[in-house]
Amino acid sequence: MRAMKETVPVTDAPAHLAPPPAPGAERHPALDFANSALVLPSGGLDLLGSPDSAAQWLVERGLAPADARLQEVCAGRLRDFRQQVRALLVSRITALPAPPEALTAVNEALTSVPSAPLLRWDEAQGLHRAQPHPTDRLVDHALAVLAADAADLLTGPDAERLATCGSAPCTRHLLRTHAARHWCSVRCGDRARAARAYARRTAQPKTA
Ligand SMILES: [Zn+2]
Repeated sequence: MRAMKETVPVTDAPAHLAPPPAPGAERHPALDFANSALVLPSGGLDLLGSPDSAAQWLVERGLAPADARLQEVCAGRLRDFRQQVRALLVSRITALPAPPEALTAVNEALTSVPSAPLLRWDEAQGLHRAQPHPTDRLVDHALAVLAADAADLLTGPDAERLATCGSAPCTRHLLRTHAARHWCSVRCGDRARAARAYARRTAQPKTA
């Protein structure tokens, strides 16, 4: 048997190479976030791989203003936090204890910025509530929103339907739309069926 390649090259390729969002990712930004690191049959694809692609990812999801610019250190913080969210999803799916460092990361993100719109007063608007997110805390704000959604997802009614795509090499997570479905996209479903058909063919008893 040939040795499996240990690593696949990760490219910071444009987002259009990514498959459509996995079921549930439209409703749960944390699930979409977890799935921003992809393993495609052609190799790895990281939608947060560079400051520009990470900024684009945030802007497209309304988590940063349209003119947002990120430094590499910010993109790195997003990628590190993604690891923790993925670890929590896996622990929930596999019913294993949640890693303490992942809990700490989510709780720090939840509490590092005010999560509620604050009460303000000015001449023009009088009393009103406004979400404070100065640009220098853009990543903190995005992490807080993603952490809040992750916490809701992991403890809410949708948690029962969390699954990992069953079509190797894909590692995306999804919310199962029905019990039998364990893949994240039509492409992954087709590949899983083709792999099963191939396995059946090659499992035919051979005449010695
Ligand atoms: Zn998949």
